Order: sequence, then C-alpha cells, then structure tokens
Amino acid sequence: MPHLRLWLLALAPFAALGQIRVQPLDEPLSVSGELAELRNHHFHSGIDLRTGGTTGKNVYAVAEGWVRRIVIRPDGYGWALYLDHPTGHTSVYAHLESFSPEIWAYVRTQAERLGEYRLDLYPPRGFLTVPEGSVIGTSGNTGASGGPHLHFELRDQASEEILNPIPLGLRVPTPVAKPRLWARQNERWRPAGDSLSVSSWYDLAVTLPEQGFSVYVDDSLRAEWALSRWSFDVQRGADAGLALSLHSQQGVRGFLLHPTPTQPAPGWHVHLSLPNQPGRYRLTVNSGDSVVWSGPVRLQSRELRAVQPRKLLESESWSLELPAQALAWDQNLSFRAEDRRVVVAPDAAALKPVRYEWHPDQLADSLWDKTYLAVRDGRGSAKIPGTRIEGGIRFTSKTLGSGDVRVDTEGPECRFLRREPSGRVWIQVRDELDVEIVRASINGAWVWAYLDAKANALWVDAGSEIGQLELQVQDELGNLTTFTHIL
Ligand SMILES: [Zn+2]
Repeated sequence: MPHLRLWLLALAPFAALGQIRVQPLDEPLSVSGELAELRNHHFHSGIDLRTGGTTGKNVYAVAEGWVRRIVIRPDGYGWALYLDHPTGHTSVYAHLESFSPEIWAYVRTQAERLGEYRLDLYPPRGFLTVPEGSVIGTSGNTGASGGPHLHFELRDQASEEILNPIPLGLRVPTPVAKPRLWARQNERWRPAGDSLSVSSWYDLAVTLPEQGFSVYVDDSLRAEWALSRWSFDVQRGADAGLALSLHSQQGVRGFLLHPTPTQPAPGWHVHLSLPNQPGRYRLTVNSGDSVVWSGPVRLQSRELRAVQPRKLLESESWSLELPAQALAWDQNLSFRAEDRRVVVAPDAAALKPVRYEWHPDQLADSLWDKTYLAVRDGRGSAKIPGTRIEGGIRFTSKTLGSGDVRVDTEGPECRFLRREPSGRVWIQVRDELDVEIVRASINGAWVWAYLDAKANALWVDAGSEIGQLELQVQDELGNLTTFTHIL
C-alpha cells in the first residue's frame, strides 16, 4: 500500500486548503458585526459572532495548526489568539475571556519572566500545537468590545491581508439589511428621496457599503467599491470615506459616494471622477444585482480642491499644523483659541496626525509634563498626553474638533472591591487617562493581574493567598499610585 499512503499524504494539505473545517463557536452562528463594516479609523477586519449575551462559550480552532501569536491588552482585541494553519491562513479569535490550560500555562510563565501585564507573545513555531476543533479558550468581552462576542477573522499568512472567511467555510446567515443612499441638503442628512439637489457629490453617502456598491452617472459606470482582501496599511481609507456629519446626526456610518480626490480609499475598483459641472444628471447606485437608488440629481456648483498644501493656523498662544494632504479633501477650517481651549470646525477627519501647540503665558513649572488635551469630534473623544517643547506643549492627534487642556498630577485612584471564590481579587482603578499596571505582588511575590479598562477595574489572580497585596499602577503621564490591601 505504499503508493496509496503517499498519495493520501500528498492530498491531505490540498483537501484542507482554504477550508474552515470546524466553526469557531457551536452552531448556529449569528452575526453582530459584518466584515469590512465602517468603524472609526478602520474597516472591521473580521466578523463578530454573537455569544448569547454572555461570556464563557467554548471557542474552537477552525483547523489544525499552531499558536503563532498571543495578545493580552486592556484595549483593542483584549485577549486574542492567532493560529497559523498549514493551509497558509491565520485565524484570529479576539476579546476572549480565557485561554486553554496549555496556552495559559505558557502565557503565565512568560508574563512572570517579563514582569509584564500587557503581552504580545510569539511562541516558537510548532511549540503550542492545536488539533482541529480543539477548545483554545472561551469567549469573552475583553478589550475594546461593546459587549460579549467573538471577533473572528481570517488572514493570509504571508501577506497578513484580511480575507473574507465566508467563502472559506464560515457558516453565517446572509445579511438582511440593505445598503441605503443618504443625501445632505441644507446641512442635514436624510434618506434620499425621489430626486435630489446637492452642492457636491460629497453630499451623498451609502450606508452598509461593506456589501459593495457601484455608481453610475448618466448610465456610465464611474465608481465601484468592494473590499474583498485588504491590508492594514489601507485602513486609513475608512476615514477618507466616512461621512462624519452623517454619523453625528443620524448615528449611522455612511461611506461617501465619491472617492476622495486626495486619498483614494481602498476598495475602489473603478475610480473615476464624477462630473464636476453644475447641472442635471441621472444617478444610479447599485449593490450586487439590486438598485439602491436611482433618480435625477441636480448638482449645484462647488469646487473641490484636490491639492492641499501644509496649513498652519495660529492664534496668540495656540497653533495647529496640518501636514500636506492631511484631509480627505481640501476645506477651509475655522480656528478659534482662547486660554486653555481650542476649537476647530468643521470636525473633518484627519488622515494624518496634526499638531496642536500651546504656548501658555503662565504654567507652573511642575505642570509642564502633566497636561493633556481632551479633544472631541463628531465621533468621539480622545485624551492626548502632551509633549514638552521649547516654550510650550505639543499634542499630536488625528482628532480635529474642540479641545481643552487639562492638568493631571494624580495617580490612579484605587479601591478594593471584592474577592471571588475563584481567588480573583477585584480592585477599582480610576483615572482621567489610560492606566497601566506596573507591578502586582502578594507578600512581595509577583502575581498576574489584568486591567479591565471598560470596568475601570483590575483583577489579581490571588488564588488562596493571604497577606499583603501591593499594586503599582500609573497613568499615561506617569502619575504613579502604590496601593496596598491586606487579603
Ligand atoms: Zn469585531
């Protein structure tokens, strides 16, 4: 039988090629977030699978492989596993609550060896192997997730490009929601009516662009958008295409109908300028075989400037510098600054970091390293720690909006919450800024802890230990708190 065995060995990798052989959760699967969904600053790179509103569901390796990367962080993917498969794919499982005992033993050892609580580990290739369908962990709500779910994604191992897992075997229901066209008239976004009058093509946006859409003007194809495979360096395209004011007004994420002139977004397969002459046109927007919207559009005149020089906006004690081509398209920004406050309008998406500089007349010497800029735009807010420069403080951010300078000289505030029967000890940790764990120990011996940023709390794996728990936590400006509690 040697021939047959050889033949089977040769065939095995091909049989597995491109196949998700086991679903990552018990079936049936249900989707709460689609692939390529438009998020803040990125396209959703995976598919969010519901876990019944709870945590602790078994998560399965979709195919045989080995653990290539393990991440633990308070934000982003939280607890995440990256498995490499012999087929050349990587499967990613994020926001997990726990890892399998074998994986956890490795993580715990490495964390103690490094003395760190935020981990990004690459075990030696083949060190942690996982059989197809084995339980690699349990689902959770760690990191920047808005509720319990499993974020599942598939990548090409070599290029790290994001792939659509559905054609490769992920069994999820077909989405029922359909793309829709929105129009901005008199600064208000509304679902498009039978006919439209807009000042530019930028006043039109499509929601649910992830299902793909194409744009015809007077029956000729001008633009076609669909993301099927993409790399992380094109993620900024999400900001270039996002209709910001639609999101702030209606709470929906829409993608501008027109590819932006300065920063063409990824996913545009056909990318021609739409006619810029004022006049009447017939517009048709399709998604797949169905018509999203079709009708007459009256285009008023509005010039769109594609070339953007570097801009420097200044007031007495403030400046704002935008590098060349920093915005999706050129637009005039109003800049108002007074004392500790700065306001930029409109709150355009910056595709490159912009630099705010504050040159205060007076600031106590001890405070120069203790300031941050609390800045908010139509989508949300950010707190940007300052960097001291000659005669002032610089804040580097991608958020253009209204900002207030604040001073933080206090370390995080800590308070004992409870001890669970499992031995997990919860400590509340509050600060204006992001916090990180420097060290946790019981009677001087290092212990594992995890910061649950959403809960403003951390937990320590205390087991059945008694004695003195000591925690050192600090905020982004280096304000340190040492907290002790007798267990
Ligand atoms: Zn997700």
